[in-house]
Amino acid sequence: MREGPGRERNVPIQGALDATKRADALRKLASGPLDVLIIGGGVTGTGAALDAASRGLRVGLVEARDLAAGTSSRSSKLVHGGLRYLEQRDFKLVKEALRERDLLVAKLAPHLVRPLPFLYPIYKKVVERPYVGAGLVIYDAMEGTKRPVPYHRHLTTRGALKRAPSLKADRLAGAMMYYDAQVDDARLAMTVARTAAAHGATVVTGASAVALLRSSDERDAPVIGARIRDEETGHLHDIRATRVVVCAGVWSDLVHEASGVRAGYQVRMSKGVHLVVPRSAIDAGTGMIVRTEKSVLFFIPWGDDRWIVGTTDTDFSGDRSEPTATAQDVSYILGQANRVLAKPLTSRDVLAVYAGLRPLVADPEPAPGLVPTDVADKPTTKLSREHVVDAPLPGLVSIAGGKLTTYRLMARDVIDVAVNDFPREVPPSVTDQLPLLGADGLAAVRAGAQRLAEDYGLSVPAVEHLITRYGALAEEVLGLIRADKSLGRPLAAGYPYLRAEVVYAVTHEGALRVEDVLARRVRLLIESPDAGVPVASAVATIMGKLLGWGRRQRAQETQRYLDLAVATGQAIRPPADAIAPAEGAEAATTGAGAADAAAAKPGAAVAGAAERAAGKASRAPIPA
Ligand SMILES: Cc1cc2nc3c(=O)[nH]c(=O)nc-3n(C[C@H](O)[C@H](O)[C@H](O)COP(=O)(O)OP(=O)(O)OC[C@H]3O[C@@H](n4cnc5c(N)ncnc54)[C@H](O)[C@@H]3O)c2cc1C
Repeated sequence: MREGPGRERNVPIQGALDATKRADALRKLASGPLDVLIIGGGVTGTGAALDAASRGLRVGLVEARDLAAGTSSRSSKLVHGGLRYLEQRDFKLVKEALRERDLLVAKLAPHLVRPLPFLYPIYKKVVERPYVGAGLVIYDAMEGTKRPVPYHRHLTTRGALKRAPSLKADRLAGAMMYYDAQVDDARLAMTVARTAAAHGATVVTGASAVALLRSSDERDAPVIGARIRDEETGHLHDIRATRVVVCAGVWSDLVHEASGVRAGYQVRMSKGVHLVVPRSAIDAGTGMIVRTEKSVLFFIPWGDDRWIVGTTDTDFSGDRSEPTATAQDVSYILGQANRVLAKPLTSRDVLAVYAGLRPLVADPEPAPGLVPTDVADKPTTKLSREHVVDAPLPGLVSIAGGKLTTYRLMARDVIDVAVNDFPREVPPSVTDQLPLLGADGLAAVRAGAQRLAEDYGLSVPAVEHLITRYGALAEEVLGLIRADKSLGRPLAAGYPYLRAEVVYAVTHEGALRVEDVLARRVRLLIESPDAGVPVASAVATIMGKLLGWGRRQRAQETQRYLDLAVATGQAIRPPADAIAPAEGAEAATTGAGAADAAAAKPGAAVAGAAERAAGKASRAPIPA
């Protein structure tokens, strides 16, 4: 929505993505040739934009919807090596991911990425403790001795129950304690985009690449840009670029197919579902990871009041823009959780459900050396989480696979390929030395929380909340409150978000729609049992003042959010039985497409979704 420093005079620094200036940014993109045009504004695309811009290239990024609207807002939100991948002997992936985790925690994004302890309960003392213990020794050793997170520890049964009283005591034979990290995934992708803008990238959301531009009609003609549709106006723009980089996640195949490009890989979509439950439903002071038959289940603390529990891993072939959970998905997660919890979780505990699609790499006919050849028949749990870069045509590079954790490496790799044979010399990636916006000055802002609270007439927890979300940029949000005291009021009762954050989301974080604010800038869509619907109209009013919406458009934008809340609320509650079975639910979700087929049944929809969307539901759990 704006250009970074050094491109134009009178442009504010700090990489503000100002949605009120979106039209200017789009004009700018269309006006001159770029070095690199990135398609897709998930964590991979924003990472690629940052990598390229910080190497001195002229960069544009187009995102069809909103930053992180795809998979990058729907993950488990862990920045981790992936203990599970160790078991699959994917040592390279684990080692790289651990290094990235530590870099993010210690240097690049300490305001966003926080260490998190995990308890791994053990049930077969003789077999499991040495096995898991050895795995964790490797996990720790791969990280090295310079580490921002503690080493793993062995716990007795008593020690495990002290930390997690909710665990079933029978059969428990102790536990291991190890560390990983967590992040608000959507905030990470958006902050990476802002950091790219601060280095000169032009970022435009609501802009879809509808076709690749070619230098001639020949089949193998080089790609010289992309035709973009402005989703706000329907206008088409041709954007020229020396390199086009496709970072479209599960949409990659569609981008390739739209222009008749045969890429060397195909994406295989795997759906993962998470439940959000109140913190009070599970008594534990740490995250937990438990084995399931095919994979693992995480219990991840989310903020002060919630747990995220998941996930599933099933083949998917439905609508990729808004994947939904099915009743079977919910039952499966509850069933797996209840294998280890003394007090079973019930559907009544479920505050929200969300689903995301992993863009895993699969290819029945891969280009030599590009991807494994035997993946087409593998279950998605067994597919590698490594990424693949392909250059199917001159001028075009494409990437898929990977993880949120390794976004920086993915970005480096794809831009390395993009600038291979570039008309001028391009320096190597420097992003391992580039803290994201909000990281610099963090310690001083944290130390000054009390003073800031006094200066701005807010409580210390309110200021700490802002620092947790914006790091050193919290002062920019506070500046809005100084100018207009009413913006210091809470956005929704019982939640820490302030009205100023809605303004900031528009003027600095590129939010164009009510959904962008409630689903991704603040996370009420997944944190609140009413999905934030009761405040949608207030959000539309605040946004409308900045974006010039009249009464009709405010109503439309509010309605649009209600529709989304209805759509995503459809599998909040499993059918009839309130307590999920402890075993045997797995079969329902491991068969390819089984769960998604069930979603099509009318009975899978939840009657309460409509009342949730209408804002009639209170914070109390919705009865099944
Ligand atoms: C359930 C689940 C749990 C996960 N948990 C973790 C985890 O804990 N830790 C971890 O490291 N990783 C995790 N992952 C993986 C991680 O979330 C993904 O690898 C990552 O978010 C993918 O990012 P991306 O940018 O490649 O794709 P996306 O985030 O999907 O971005 C692609 C973007 O391209 C845009 N787009 C598509 N077509 C076009 C077009 N024609 N023009 C313009 N834009 C377009 C889309 O709108 C979208 O925003 C998880 C994934 C899932 C599904």
